[in-house]
Amino acid sequence: MKRICVFCGSSSGARPEYTEAAVTIGTEIVRRGLELVYGGGRIGLMGVVADTVLAAGGRAIGVIPKALMTKEIAHSGLTELHVVESMHERKAMMADRTDAFIALPGGFGTMEEFFEVLTWAQLGLHRKPCALLNTAGYYDGLLALFETFLGERFVLPEHRTLVLDDTDPLRLLDRIERYTHPSVETWLTDDDET
Ligand code: AMP
Repeated sequence: MKRICVFCGSSSGARPEYTEAAVTIGTEIVRRGLELVYGGGRIGLMGVVADTVLAAGGRAIGVIPKALMTKEIAHSGLTELHVVESMHERKAMMADRTDAFIALPGGFGTMEEFFEVLTWAQLGLHRKPCALLNTAGYYDGLLALFETFLGERFVLPEHRTLVLDDTDPLRLLDRIERYTHPSVETWLTDDDET
C-alpha cells in the first residue's frame, strides 16, 4: 500500500477531538511511509490533514475542481495539485490514485464521496479498503443505520464487511494495512466501467 485517500469535512466541526484525529491521521500517514490523496483544499479538517502531512515531510496530492479553487482555497504548498473540471473528475482521479479510502468526520460532501467508493466496492469495481473513523462516536448514528439496512435486508451481511470502522485512528490504519478484500457477490466484472 502506497497511498491513502482521506475524505473529511471542509469544516473543523464542533469538537477539538476532530482536529486531533486529523492531526493523528496526517502524522501516521507519514510515519507509515504512505502518501496522502485528498480534495486539495486548505480549509477545515482537509487543511489540517494536509498541513500535518507536509509538516512531517510527507507527500500530499490534492485534486480540486476549478470551481472550488477559491471557495475551498486550494492549498498552495502541496506536493502535487491537480485542478480538474468537475466533481466527478475529482472523485475519479482521487479513487484512481489511491490504495485505500478513509473518511474522517465530515458532512454531506464527505458522505457522498465515501458512499460512492463504498458502492463501487460493492459492485466489484475496486478492491480497496473503505474505512470510517468514528471519532468521539461521530458516526454512531450512521453505524446504527447500517444495522437497519441489514435487518431490513437492503444490505447483505457480506457487503457490510466492506466498511471498516473504528474509534481509534491507529487501530483503523492497522486494519486498513492488513485488509484483504472479502469475496463478495458483485454485479459487475472487472471489465465494466464506471
Ligand atoms: P463536507 O463534508 O460537506 O464538508 O465536504 C467535504 C468535501 O467533499 C469538500 O471538499 C467538498 O467539496 C467535497 N464534495 C462535496 N460534494 C462532492 C461531490 N459531489 N463530488 C466530489 N466532492 C464533493
